[in-house]
Amino acid sequence: MINLSGVGKTYDDGTVAVHELDLEIGRGELVVLVGPSGCGKSTTLKMINRLIEPTTGRIEIDGVDVTRQDPVQLRRGIGYVIQQVGLFPHQKVVRNVMTVPLLYGESKPTARKRALELMELVGLDPATYADRYPHQLSGGQRQRVGVARALAANPPVLLMDEPFGAVDPVVRTRLQDEFLRLQRDLGKTVVLVTHDIDEAVRMGDRVAIFAVGGRLAQYGTPAQLLAH
Ligand code: ADP
Ligand code: ADP
Repeated sequence: MINLSGVGKTYDDGTVAVHELDLEIGRGELVVLVGPSGCGKSTTLKMINRLIEPTTGRIEIDGVDVTRQDPVQLRRGIGYVIQQVGLFPHQKVVRNVMTVPLLYGESKPTARKRALELMELVGLDPATYADRYPHQLSGGQRQRVGVARALAANPPVLLMDEPFGAVDPVVRTRLQDEFLRLQRDLGKTVVLVTHDIDEAVRMGDRVAIFAVGGRLAQYGTPAQLLAH
């Protein structure tokens, strides 16, 4: 479904962030990119939704070169979740989740209904939390809102950059487990970035281990990697 071949990124200052990356991600698969800080994981994620243009190589989604797609159209099919979820502080939770459907021309009642369903889906009781503001939520709850918002356009692909990084270990484990269940139910294709090898092994159908210099050191199922 997502295919990277010979992908490289050198930033303007000469930093080689990603080098000759080949990666195949299947439909419905959860692939984790893991490795130390600065080895090109976030850059790779941002090249998939064209927040960053690759210097070399080719990225295809469903056989279509992403550089040949309108970026706005492309991003409709890709949900993006980052660690510091940028929720609108002066809008209620439900309104934060409605943003994307409203942007795409949904009516207010339809968007609201969908947002409440999504809150339920990510484990945030709508009756309790819909009318709160982001600062009235815990870190874990804000992260759930971020996931709900990313799902609002019903994208087939989710890109997640350290989505569970900002919460304490107990909450993290719960969010990881709940997200795995959600992903199984929804069948989304997910690319998840983390520096936590335990999270990678726990969550990934396949795990891509990045090494310093933006090189892919290993790619395989957790069982294959643990056998090494
Ligand atoms: P990771 O997500 O694995 O921590 P990144 O993809 O964020 O790694 O960064 C890879 C490398 O590229 C690092 O050396 C980082 O400092 C560098 N880098 C990231 N963004 C930029 C930028 N906008 N300009 C120059 N160098 C950058
Ligand atoms: P977590 O274990 O997810 O980190 P917290 O200890 O931060 O949870 O929060 C516990 C509960 O208190 C949550 O239900 C959260 O919604 C609620 N809460 C946190 N901050 C506020 C606030 N400023 N106003 C109202 N409720 C809050």
